[in-house]
Amino acid sequence: MTMGAGERELLFTVGPVEMDDATRAIGGDPLPYFRTAEFSEVVHRCQALLKQAVGAGPADHVALLACSGTGAMEAAVTAIFTPADHVLCIDGGSFGARFRKICDVNGIPCTPIVVPPGEPFRFDQLAGLDVSAFTGLLVNMHETSTGQLYDMVKIGDFCRANGLALVVDAISSFLADPYAMGDVGAAATIVSSHKGLALAPGLSAVVLGDRTYRDRVLANPPRSVYFDLASYVEDGQRGQTPFTPAVGIVYQLHDKLERLCEAGVPAAVARTASLAGDFRARLGALPVELPDYPLSNALTPVQVRDAYELYLRLRRSHGICVNPSGGALGATTLRVGHLGNLTTKDNESLIAALEEEMSACKLS
Ligand SMILES: *Cc1c(COP(=O)(O)O)cnc(C)c1O
Repeated sequence: MTMGAGERELLFTVGPVEMDDATRAIGGDPLPYFRTAEFSEVVHRCQALLKQAVGAGPADHVALLACSGTGAMEAAVTAIFTPADHVLCIDGGSFGARFRKICDVNGIPCTPIVVPPGEPFRFDQLAGLDVSAFTGLLVNMHETSTGQLYDMVKIGDFCRANGLALVVDAISSFLADPYAMGDVGAAATIVSSHKGLALAPGLSAVVLGDRTYRDRVLANPPRSVYFDLASYVEDGQRGQTPFTPAVGIVYQLHDKLERLCEAGVPAAVARTASLAGDFRARLGALPVELPDYPLSNALTPVQVRDAYELYLRLRRSHGICVNPSGGALGATTLRVGHLGNLTTKDNESLIAALEEEMSACKLS
């Protein structure tokens, strides 16, 4: 039997995640034509609410893209930087490596700051560098492949002090960890529909600081047709996009942002934090370990023997899907997500299933 869309499996993944009933219902609605005043109004509202939610200013800009998060990363990097730039990239895992690859493919000079496996990123890693040689810094606020959360206030201060344009991939941190683009002083912040927002995959957004938009995005020649952010900002001023938007997800986004902003983003962050805290407290009863570095509330990297086997058993016998890890962490680390419409009762079920399968693994 294959698991198709519509068959229920409880998702402790980091994307897609459990959607709530309202979001799912919108996914079943008929779609309207979108080159209309009514759709433009919805887009305008999404732009305003999204700026509010990431802590950007009213004069900043939002580009709504029909792509997964990686598309938005590439759009942001190629719009903001050119081969005449030289960026630093904090590389603590596969998402840091993705930023590096985007630079490589697009001919943008990039010097990685590689975070040693299992260790926290430390500022003294930047100590030997001649920072004046650089113009930007790329960081995944939460490196989702390991669960490490970077200190964005410190990184923001460092970039401000050294005149670096800071591009923040907040895709897996948004609504999980506190973040305010204006306070951090970021040039751009990237978010995506299928992580903390808990919508269908396929929509991502780049929030651009107004100065970055004027001094960099508008000044640089476009290097891609589909990912020309300047054209998204320009069309966005009349509530439109240059190409067909992810219409259905825009409606899900609008509904979700209205609800979020009414309750307040800090309440959403607190909810994720409390789910993560509850799960980590319950883990105390099991023979597992957590890494030493700072963790995002979005995900708990559970270090356990037979991690991949456990992942398979949780799906097969309990209908629970956690995130396996890639590469070297595959056999040793399960990643348990806390984003989306989960409850402490769900945590309880997962812990019970883990307990059962961990003892089964030892018997076999
Ligand atoms: C999920 C994620 C992305 C985007 O991945 P896609 O598969 O392209 O959606 C980018 N950065 C981080 C940190 C992520 O967690």
